[in-house]
Amino acid sequence: MIAVEDVSKSFRVNGSVLIQALDGASLHVNKGEFVTLIGPSGCGKSTMLNLICGLMEPDSGSISLDGDASAQRLGRVGYMLQRDLLLPWRSLLDNLLLGPEVRGQDMVEARQLALSLLPLFGLEGFADVYPAALSIGMRQRAALLRTILCRQELLLLDEPFGALDALTRRTMRTWLLTVWERFKQTVLFVTHDVDEAIYLADRVYAMSARPGHVVHELTIDLPRPRSDTVIVEPVFNAYRSELLQALGV
Ligand code: ADP
Ligand code: MG
Repeated sequence: MIAVEDVSKSFRVNGSVLIQALDGASLHVNKGEFVTLIGPSGCGKSTMLNLICGLMEPDSGSISLDGDASAQRLGRVGYMLQRDLLLPWRSLLDNLLLGPEVRGQDMVEARQLALSLLPLFGLEGFADVYPAALSIGMRQRAALLRTILCRQELLLLDEPFGALDALTRRTMRTWLLTVWERFKQTVLFVTHDVDEAIYLADRVYAMSARPGHVVHELTIDLPRPRSDTVIVEPVFNAYRSELLQALGV
């Protein structure tokens, strides 16, 4: 579905210093796959997502959508940032309806769909509540639901659980897989958590420190649906060791 080939990207900071974020990075995500991208802080993971969704263009290399390197990507890819970016002056439901509203979709239908999905997202009864009154976990689930309601085939998720405590993270990742089994969207998920990267994925890409490029690709051959107990199994340990070694830690 998406193929990133030999992509490099630099940023000019303060007019002069050139920071190379990505250097010859390649990866691909097949239709229906859940792929995770892991790497140290500052290695260019968010830059990779910004490039894929079309917010910026690479200095060199190519990005193809469904085999077409000249395809317009902006607006065809759902993108959820680490910060939830819920609008504080809109109720939860009005935040959820932002995408359909901007896209000019049938609002009656969108409203019904959003309301019907609230229980799955642990938000039942909160439609009229403002974001400030929600817990961080609820806000992240709301942000994910908002992204899903845009109904894009490809979802880019940038460390969505990064701000959560370890226990909530564990609950959220199992929950995310339940949601994913239901919607079957193609996902590229960025994280810096090794267990999270393995637990969620069909395939994991590991990136080097900046300038970032892919140093390792790992296919995760664990049955689905997965439960959290899988992380203590020997096969999971083997994946963890392989990934840590690739990351140089
Ligand atoms: P990660 O998401 O892996 O932590 P980023 O992609 O955010 O890394 O950043 C990679 C590098 O590029 C960092 O050194 C960051 O400071 C730099 N960078 C990212 N975006 C910009 C930008 N818009 N302008 C200048 N520098 C940037
Ligand atoms: Mg980032």
